[in-house]
Amino acid sequence: MSDKYIHGKALSIFHEKCPRCQSGNMFKAKASNLAKFTDMNEKCSVCNLHFEIEPGFYWGAMYVSYGITTGMMLVLGTLTYLIGHNPDFWVYIGIICGTVILSAPWVYRFSRVILLHFISSVKFDKKYEIQK
Ligand SMILES: [Zn+2]
Repeated sequence: MSDKYIHGKALSIFHEKCPRCQSGNMFKAKASNLAKFTDMNEKCSVCNLHFEIEPGFYWGAMYVSYGITTGMMLVLGTLTYLIGHNPDFWVYIGIICGTVILSAPWVYRFSRVILLHFISSVKFDKKYEIQK
């Protein structure tokens, strides 16, 4: 695996791009658009990959989301303990619940992107790559 491949893969995950061409958008709107953050494109506009590669594929994203959220809660709890010198219980609840609720759109989308990039059999294919 070359550095260019890893760099391209990391960028395409960060920018929520198709795993095959690393160019087409997976989602219709930005995560900050709370009315439409769940809307996924049916197919990639560049390589025509069907993003729902099999019925119910994205049910698995719940497990990825669970892992991300649990990790976030552990890190936030530890940081709150260290920075706040073990504050009251309600400070933990406020910081952790507030962050989990505010980050939900990004976690939702990121878990789908992670699932499609790492769990599915779709691999990067150079022939679909757009020359920049
Ligand atoms: Zn594509």
